[in-house]
Amino acid sequence: MSAATSECLFCKIARKEIPAVPVYEDDSLLAFKDIFPQAPVHLLLIPKAHCEGLADMTPGIAETVGRLPQVAARLAQEHGVAASGWRLLSNNGPDSGQSVFHLHFHLLGGKPLGGKLC
Ligand code: 5GP
Ligand code: ZN
Repeated sequence: MSAATSECLFCKIARKEIPAVPVYEDDSLLAFKDIFPQAPVHLLLIPKAHCEGLADMTPGIAETVGRLPQVAARLAQEHGVAASGWRLLSNNGPDSGQSVFHLHFHLLGGKPLGGKLC
């Protein structure tokens, strides 16, 4: 295991070394509840394999991430926000406010999220 992977918070969650509330899991993708929710529905979707962000994806991770919007749509349905609306976003790098450097996507919904992107 590389140093980045052994120390990474979301790798530890993927390995079940740190508890989280899972809402979806398959071989290469995991979704769980955000510990500090910013909306009534706030889920995090991650490839289980480590990479820092969208610029660092291997072809295998890119394949996993290609499936991710469909999984997000299903989770939005299951969490009751499919009709009211939801947002899927990934922060990458300092100006975005990325704080965990394992690629992840926020699924937010359950309240008006605002019309502005930034
Ligand atoms: P970022 O700011 O990097 O885009 O998002 C990181 C997200 O991870 C934040 O929304 C934060 O609340 C969440 N987070 C940080 N630590 C933990 C944790 O230990 N467990 C869970 N479930 N979420 C976490
Ligand atoms: Zn990681």
